[in-house]
Amino acid sequence: MPFKARTVPVDLIKLRILHNRMNLSHEEKRYYLYQEKGFAGEVQFDLLTEKIRSECYILNDLVLKINDTTFQLDTTIIFQKTISLFDVKNSEGDYCFRNGVFETLAEKEIKNPLDQLKRSKSLFRQFLQKHGYNLLIEGKVVFINPRFTLYQAPLNEPIIYPTQLDTLMEELNTAPSKLTNQNKKLAEKLVSLHERDSSFIKVPPYDYEQLKKGITCRDCGSFMITVLGKNVVCNDCGCKEIVEAAVLRNVNEIKLLFPNLKITTKVVHEWCMVVKSKKRISRILERNFKTVGVRNWTYYE
Ligand SMILES: [Zn+2]
Repeated sequence: MPFKARTVPVDLIKLRILHNRMNLSHEEKRYYLYQEKGFAGEVQFDLLTEKIRSECYILNDLVLKINDTTFQLDTTIIFQKTISLFDVKNSEGDYCFRNGVFETLAEKEIKNPLDQLKRSKSLFRQFLQKHGYNLLIEGKVVFINPRFTLYQAPLNEPIIYPTQLDTLMEELNTAPSKLTNQNKKLAEKLVSLHERDSSFIKVPPYDYEQLKKGITCRDCGSFMITVLGKNVVCNDCGCKEIVEAAVLRNVNEIKLLFPNLKITTKVVHEWCMVVKSKKRISRILERNFKTVGVRNWTYYE
């Protein structure tokens, strides 16, 4: 089990909802899918690291700050004498390494992951020094997608290619390490200094009016939902969910996207369209939230 687990970034959840409920521009959509893919790659790497048998603390997704500079570490593994940083890339397709530059085969330059790694390593080193720790830091860029190829790949750079993942895991599995109390203190310190509200994901502007209303399917996101007795049923994938759970899930969407909007029966009724009865909505809200105000001014917290 990781010492710090990875959760879906709030801004990625927002992007998911917006992607479903509004027409994102071509560029915004591409950006959203890129973020989704990056996250999927990190989760895939988590599945590998959680099998490591040698003593270590695994911290997934850390956002730290040093001298007003915020930086993100995909995976940080504390061993007794070293700390390993992994920057996970889920790129796929053919790339080429020319004169120290990463390019697509069409010679379109892409962000150099080695530069990014160097930067995080250096910031992390300063961070550790500031907090009185002096451990050896190792950093690697991990290309996790089996469909990734790098032509003219450099030999002496800290890169793990998809075909080397097994070897990497074997190495990490056999790393001699006996965790100390100081290691644990460091792990705790890192978690406590994690900037949970910082986000590197950009959410495009949106407003309430422009979003498509309606309950969406829990499993496939479809709007083709019918209320059948106690359940909502998806006409696309057949998924069934209790009405109350579906309404609450959708209230959470509203709260996430519009933290300042008061949750009233009217708002939820409008958002959840297929639930025809306002009374049913207000009963659900009454059961699950604190009622504030009376009659027409009632809202729920
Ligand atoms: Zn569905």
